[in-house]
Amino acid sequence: MTTKNPQEIKLRIGVIGTGAIGSDHIRRCTHTLSGAEIVAVSDVNTENAKKAVTPYNPNARVYESGHDLINAENVDAVIIASSGQTHAEYVLSAIKAGKYVFCEKPLATTIEDCQNIIQAEQDQGRRLVQVGFMRPYDKGYRELKKIISDGIIGSPLMVHAVHRNQKVGESYVTHMSIFETLIHELDVLRWLLNDDYISAQVIFPRQTNYTHEKLRDPQIVLLETKSGIRIDVEVFVNCQYGYDIQCSVVGEKGTANLPDPAAVSLRLGEKLTTSILTDWKDRFIEAYDIEIQEFINGCLAGQLNGPSTWNGYVAAIAAVACVKAQDTLAIEPISIPDSPAMYK
Ligand code: NAP
Repeated sequence: MTTKNPQEIKLRIGVIGTGAIGSDHIRRCTHTLSGAEIVAVSDVNTENAKKAVTPYNPNARVYESGHDLINAENVDAVIIASSGQTHAEYVLSAIKAGKYVFCEKPLATTIEDCQNIIQAEQDQGRRLVQVGFMRPYDKGYRELKKIISDGIIGSPLMVHAVHRNQKVGESYVTHMSIFETLIHELDVLRWLLNDDYISAQVIFPRQTNYTHEKLRDPQIVLLETKSGIRIDVEVFVNCQYGYDIQCSVVGEKGTANLPDPAAVSLRLGEKLTTSILTDWKDRFIEAYDIEIQEFINGCLAGQLNGPSTWNGYVAAIAAVACVKAQDTLAIEPISIPDSPAMYK
């Protein structure tokens, strides 16, 4: 860690993957958050990595290999923001090097990889990984959770949730709607309800003309929890009109809805309108800021508290069942083991 003056200890971070969210994390670590500096970057495309970091730190070192970045002496902690299927190898490499690592969701795309990561962390005897599930840091979800846990709407019975993206590219295929998209709901709903899933089913309604050959869109994912709560999540990634996240919890005495982001309502030309966000970066901007600040603070204090590898593992177990349910159209069981003491 660098110390310019005794008050200003900075965590030296290396970022692997400098696409959409990697670049955004470089910006927030440099301009919005405190206690960190970006000293190194790596991407399969080194030119992109250089372009992403230069406006924020022209002296940052660009590595061709993510593993070399992880093992660099002047890198204290790593942010992994490369494509999902590459996360596991980098997380394992960071744990092996004894470095703190923030891994964007998903932690890994197979249960076996998640188990290997958990084993490696257990072997180190302390938490080194924070997973990029940022919704529990969102003010709206936090208020919703408080209403549920204070018993204001009585016991939750049902949840109706919606995850809509404006559009996705041709490389986005059906199973990605689970591991790339639904994974946020799989994490946040479990946290919101303090409950575990026991089964999943997927239903495909009439398909939109805006989808392509390799993507079934939209779909409805039905989940059941241990306590019998029924959840339906609409995943619709070519909805055309914007980025829209909804969550409505129906309890015995009332319902509680996730608030929409604040937006000015406009009375103009015989119309009353409010705009809808189109970019996920804006919808959860404060939550991203808080999660990464918490990661930085945790690294500096030697104690991580954010979403753990166990959260990543449990979400992956549920996601694998959902992917299977996409193929079988049957109700697929979900079995979540008890967590080791480190994650309780
Ligand atoms: P992206 O724009 O495609 O960026 C990923 C970058 O990683 C690309 O530059 C890609 O290069 C590079 N890359 C691919 N394989 C690599 C490897 N082995 N080593 C180093 N770099 C590699 O994707 P993104 O939208 O930023 O998403 C990145 C990750 O963050 C994904 O896991 C995604 O699910 C997650 N994410 C999370 C949130 C959230 O809300 N928490 C939001 C967005 C994304 P190429 O393009 O050449 O392959």
